[in-house]
Amino acid sequence: RAKELGRDNFQLFDAKMNTELSEHVAIEQALRRAIGSEQIYLEFQPLVDLQSGRLTSFEALARWRHPELGVVSPGRFIPVAEKSGLIVPLGEQILRMVIEQLAEWQRASVPLAPVAVNVAPLQFERADFPARCHELASQHGLDPKWLSFEVTESAWLQNSTRSVAMIDTLRQAGSKVYLDDFGTGFSNLSYLKHLPIDAVKIDQAFVRNISVDPSDAAIVRGVLAMAKQLGIDTIAEGIETAEQLDCLREMGCHRGQGYYFSKPVPANQCRALLEQMGEMRRFTETVKARAL
Ligand code: C2E
Ligand code: MG
Ligand code: MG
Ligand code: MG
Repeated sequence: RAKELGRDNFQLFDAKMNTELSEHVAIEQALRRAIGSEQIYLEFQPLVDLQSGRLTSFEALARWRHPELGVVSPGRFIPVAEKSGLIVPLGEQILRMVIEQLAEWQRASVPLAPVAVNVAPLQFERADFPARCHELASQHGLDPKWLSFEVTESAWLQNSTRSVAMIDTLRQAGSKVYLDDFGTGFSNLSYLKHLPIDAVKIDQAFVRNISVDPSDAAIVRGVLAMAKQLGIDTIAEGIETAEQLDCLREMGCHRGQGYYFSKPVPANQCRALLEQMGEMRRFTETVKARAL
């Protein structure tokens, strides 16, 4: 009986692994065909100055709408793209789309705000990445100061000397470089002092319970204090409530991003968001008024 159960369990496990594997293969095949097509598009989420409430910039987030699979979330297709190496052509397409969008806004005299693009470790492994970015930007008559880059810890831990040089090159051209998902990766903090980054993005895992969990609050306070000493700006991810915003403002976090301000929106809604920067300001004014 036990033996039978064991075998059943094994078969169940096997079946689950098979499903996951074939799903992975299906996504990979479909993604291979989607790259370069209009199935891939962008959404933009505003970043907000937590003191003034003003919109400071956007983060570009990749979206994929497949004719049969529907909208596939980046949480599903980005890992597949990274494992298969498809992230390199996909990342190139996303970079090009961000630059084209900025150039289009520039032509239409939309007031520009910098746009941050996520860079996967594999993309950042290529030493010509900064040159490629600047080449694309200049082809579109775009100043690289409108481009920011979000890299994760794993991206440069591979080869820190070269990563520092690449970050330097990007920044010398006027781009900003952020360390994404800070706190979720390696726990070795000593590298931070060698990294010429502009800001750390504190992962939403620490923001989620910040107003109710004293440990999370302590961790964020620690990160903010350390960043201040190192002269690095701080950006909090995943702000969803006024309580979280209150905490982060009081702790002195510079900027934030989250559904409380705005979900990621299609490109054609960015102009309205930019023009409503006063609207954005109301978010923090309300909180300030409440706090008094
Ligand atoms: P990320 O770079 O840390 O992006 C932030 C994620 O948090 C986005 O998820 C965003 O929609 C989500 N988010 C923003 N505010 C809130 C909030 O208030 N609450 C909650 N629960 N979530 C919030 P998204 O768009 O699903 O992207 C997930 C991840 O996929 C990104 O995390 C990034 O690692 C990756 N990704 C997305 N676009 C790209 C891309 O173009 N290239 C690469 N390499 N990775 C990308
Ligand atoms: Mg990011
Ligand atoms: Mg992040
Ligand atoms: Mg994240």
